[in-house]
Amino acid sequence: MLPVLALVGRPNVGKSTLFNALTGTRDALVADLPGLTRDRKYGYTRADFAPCIVVDTGGLVPSADGVERLMAQQSLRAVDEADRILFLVDVREGCTPADQFVASLIRRSGKPVILVANKAEGLDGDTAGADFHQLGFGEPQAISAAHASGLTGLMERALEGLETKVSDLPDNRDRISVAVIGRPNVGKSTLINR
Ligand code: GDP
Ligand code: MG
Repeated sequence: MLPVLALVGRPNVGKSTLFNALTGTRDALVADLPGLTRDRKYGYTRADFAPCIVVDTGGLVPSADGVERLMAQQSLRAVDEADRILFLVDVREGCTPADQFVASLIRRSGKPVILVANKAEGLDGDTAGADFHQLGFGEPQAISAAHASGLTGLMERALEGLETKVSDLPDNRDRISVAVIGRPNVGKSTLINR
């Protein structure tokens, strides 16, 4: 079994950007608006990194209702399935109440957490992340998902002590992709699941 890393955090911190950088895909939708990722999205790390499964999730927001509540349930399922949690925060915004909220949720899971200080390009990693010590997850790992910097160090830390075997990767990663398309409710997802 490959290790599983869940990318978790409030909306807009760069979870989907990091997912794309780690998987070498553009599978996860990235935009400057919250709530774009609604369910969980799975991918394999690209060959530059040790093999593992990364899971992109929707943003966790306090007092969620309706769709946001369903998104939160999806995110917490990803947390349950994961070996380790990458908890993303935005160094440009600093530590917000929404980050505190996410911290309280994932602390309850009891899973090992790596705090990831994203958007740190052009900043001194040590000072940029200092605001986030108050979250209680130790030293933040400074990265820039958009510039793909700091990712090797992040993955080394995230996978430390976990067994990663290339032979556990499916051998069809680079083969032909097929899109399943149709109007809503014709059975696309059922077909894929089967
Ligand atoms: P998500 O909601 O957590 O999945 O965040 P997204 O990946 O959709 O990114 C939200 C916004 O932050 C987008 O406009 C991204 O381009 C931007 N972003 C993501 N990573 C970085 C980064 O490392 N540096 C900067 N400056 N912006 C970033
Ligand atoms: Mg997203």
